[in-house]
Amino acid sequence: MIDNNITLPTLTLARGKEESLDRFHPWIFSGALRGVPADLEEGATVRIQASDGRIIGVGHYQIGSIAVRMLDFADIVPDDEFFAGRLRDAYRLRKALGLARPDNNAYRLVHGEGDFLPGLVVDVYGPTAVLQAHSVGFHHLRHVIARALVELPDAGIRNVFYKSETTLPYKARLDPVNDYIIGHYENDEATENGLRFHIDWLKGQKTGFFLDQRENRALLRTLAHGRKVLNTFCYTGGFSVYALAGGAVHVDSVDSSAKAISLTDANVALNFGAEAAHRSFAVDAFKFLDNMEQGAYDLIVLDPPAFAKHRSALRNALRGYQRINARAIEKIAPGGILFTFSCSQAVSKEQFRLAVFSAAAQTGRKVRILHQLTQPADHPINIYHPEGEYLKGLVLYVE
Ligand code: SAH
Repeated sequence: MIDNNITLPTLTLARGKEESLDRFHPWIFSGALRGVPADLEEGATVRIQASDGRIIGVGHYQIGSIAVRMLDFADIVPDDEFFAGRLRDAYRLRKALGLARPDNNAYRLVHGEGDFLPGLVVDVYGPTAVLQAHSVGFHHLRHVIARALVELPDAGIRNVFYKSETTLPYKARLDPVNDYIIGHYENDEATENGLRFHIDWLKGQKTGFFLDQRENRALLRTLAHGRKVLNTFCYTGGFSVYALAGGAVHVDSVDSSAKAISLTDANVALNFGAEAAHRSFAVDAFKFLDNMEQGAYDLIVLDPPAFAKHRSALRNALRGYQRINARAIEKIAPGGILFTFSCSQAVSKEQFRLAVFSAAAQTGRKVRILHQLTQPADHPINIYHPEGEYLKGLVLYVE
């Protein structure tokens, strides 16, 4: 790892800008750098030095507001073995968490900063890993990462699908193509907590499935018995499948995307056959909530997409959360249970709670918090990078 024959280009921090790095925060904003040589290539591995000449560590350089994503806080040259080691560490953690097992072969193997690999996401679906680069540095390293993935002892990964068409900076003109870089299509089925799901990594959102709701879906299964369930923003129907598995009387799934609705229907059929007590609606969830009958459901899931992708959209996002929560709390049957989420990183836990509490107050109903939910352990939060905590959820009991 320490190869004295290689010297990395060095970037120097402006005076006083080393403070957050001394606390191991993994990002350097462009304004914190004293300057960048004109010939420095995007995605290059760079050495970072403080204004007093002290070497702070190494990272990937990129044009944009986050100029460097730190890979290590030591004066090293990260080679292929460095990345293979990080992947082995990540897999060891998933094994220790009990996530790689015969009845559960879908899990997040690499969660960016949470696995000390900022800019890289890897989701595993049985024998296939879906690799997503969010930084130019990891785009250049995609073959190194892919090889290391299939070489992971015991992980059973044979195929690596690269899916970065929408995650890399457009201006970098890398023209990535979504395709297999090792292996080929084998099957599209994965197992989560004993339930089966088709995963559409070719065309689906993100890597094809929202693994971050696994534990929250499992909780819903334990509460669904005998209930009439509404799952809004259902995408692949994860919550719907778990609700049926938990003994729901019937489940209605809503998503504005017809593609999502057909994925949901297919996943329900895969687990429960064509006769399942399930209906699906390709309609706008806001409209559905506005028009639904009072008391039609006694378990409702609200899991919308990130309403605020950026701070500028915050006010509208909070209004959106308040509106859907107010409708659900107002109309849920007495004794109803509401699962409500926000996955917007720009919306804080407090802001989300306030939006939900305001919605509850607006309806005048008695509401209690049963559970406070977050992302699961295969989406770990690097303690020096609190921005990594993005998923927030509440389970409410409505009298
Ligand atoms: N709950 C899902 C993930 C939700 S992703 C799971 O557990 O897997 C968000 C979904 O909301 C997407 O499928 C998207 O198509 C859908 N969506 C976005 N805007 C919508 C709207 N206005 N009405 C209904 N669905 C919407």
